[in-house]
Amino acid sequence: MVAKSSEGHTLWDRGLARLESWSARDGELEVWRERLRNWRLSPDPHDLMVWYTCVLALESVNEGNFGVGAVIVRDGEVVAEGRNQAFRPNIRGAYHAEARALEAYESNTNTSGDVSDMTMFSSLECCPMCTVLLINSGIRNVYYAAPDPSCGMLSRWEQLPPGYRTLAARRIPPQSFGSASCSDSLVKCAMTIFSLNEESLSAAMAAR
Ligand SMILES: [Zn+2]
Repeated sequence: MVAKSSEGHTLWDRGLARLESWSARDGELEVWRERLRNWRLSPDPHDLMVWYTCVLALESVNEGNFGVGAVIVRDGEVVAEGRNQAFRPNIRGAYHAEARALEAYESNTNTSGDVSDMTMFSSLECCPMCTVLLINSGIRNVYYAAPDPSCGMLSRWEQLPPGYRTLAARRIPPQSFGSASCSDSLVKCAMTIFSLNEESLSAAMAAR
């Protein structure tokens, strides 16, 4: 599968360029960068998109933020992207990857801001905040790679306030949130990248 980015390059090339755009802070990050550079995509339909979210996620870890990346896609093209920036360069509690991608799209003056015909991919299951944000946006399909049993909202959909569930279900077609169709190894990759600094950042947050 070859997906074109908005700049006209293949998404794979765009991801490789991103991987070259930063210096690894430590050896472990360098190992993961090398793994992503040499990743062999499976024929699963969402592999390339999820791989790219992992590229963004690793960049976030290198910056000292939670390792999560997200993209908004229309007709196979990435039209906006985001990565977690909740800690650095400044504390911004709402700067989750999905929220950053949505804001990047909505604030682009060349677009209407309407995401109702688009799909989002995230390397990690959405938290409650992002789930509500995405329901409100009207984006039709959201796929995530790694489950987040601790803070993920999508696997406990029934616990969302009924107003949001009704809103998502009433849209035509209804909004859908679920697991990406990608390889198990890519799910593990997304999960491991998120785990690289999760403990230390969670401790920093708990100490506030
Ligand atoms: Zn979130």
